[in-house]
Amino acid sequence: MVSLHMGEADARPHLSELVINWHITEVCNYRCGYCYAKWNDDSKEFLHDWERTQRLLDEVFSFFSPDNSSNPLRNQISWGRVRLNLAGGEPLLYRDKVLRILSYSKSKGIDTSIITNGSRLDVDFLDQLASHVSMLGLSIDSANKEQNIEIGRTDKSGNQLGLDSIADLFDRARQVNPGIRLKINTVINAINYNEDMQELISSLAPQRWKVFRMLPVITNDLSISSSDFQKFVEKHKSLDHVMSVEGNEDMSESYIMIDPHGRFFQNRIRHQGYQYSRSIESVGAAKAFDELRLSAETYASRYRMIPIKEAI
Ligand code: SF4
Repeated sequence: MVSLHMGEADARPHLSELVINWHITEVCNYRCGYCYAKWNDDSKEFLHDWERTQRLLDEVFSFFSPDNSSNPLRNQISWGRVRLNLAGGEPLLYRDKVLRILSYSKSKGIDTSIITNGSRLDVDFLDQLASHVSMLGLSIDSANKEQNIEIGRTDKSGNQLGLDSIADLFDRARQVNPGIRLKINTVINAINYNEDMQELISSLAPQRWKVFRMLPVITNDLSISSSDFQKFVEKHKSLDHVMSVEGNEDMSESYIMIDPHGRFFQNRIRHQGYQYSRSIESVGAAKAFDELRLSAETYASRYRMIPIKEAI
């Protein structure tokens, strides 16, 4: 996403894109032991009501518009464009709604991306999706079937994404949208921390491989020590050119995230459970955003030195 440069007159880091992560649903067909997609709210998720979804998007886009000089974040960083990244749960359990959100966002001049577990991607749908997004992310924790079962990365019938399917999906996405950026997210946890994923990642050749240390924000299940995480990172040094590493501290108070119920939420280091704002629908994006802490420095440094073409 981003080049970071300082002008003489303007000392703020400049990001080419400001990324807003909207977790549109808590629902998922997998059951990862470490799952972070728990937002403790029984109310209807926004994505099931198109009018509310539209109003939420309008409010968020207007607040984060690079032209909105009243956004307090502008005192710390500047940005050229906004990208809406859809996540979950598993967003592609609602494929039509996802396409509608992506189309609407694009019509408002917003860039779009999605992160999915891949289980609902088939060729026909991928053809539609890939033309809508500038970045497609797949979450893959292991190349090993048994380990995927242990982590919980299978559906109710025990199905999991095969490695051949992933390679085919990536090839197809590149054919449909040659400019697409492909990303893999891997959560390093108590099951996979000893795995060697070099062959898998090299063969898929994503532009970015994000490697996260399991963040015990919802549960401690499958958590790992910092030294085990570091060992995994060391083992994969050959992939430094694509690997982007996030330890627990890097993931705290450093993302702009909205939950399925239209609230900003934030990870906090050494705290279990998220911190939430009031609903954006009730108080507006400015007031809601002001209720949580965001480290603009950590946010900006996530994208530091990443060439625009490759940044995600
Ligand atoms: S794929 Fe993601 S949302 Fe689904 S169970 Fe795993 S961590 Fe949770």
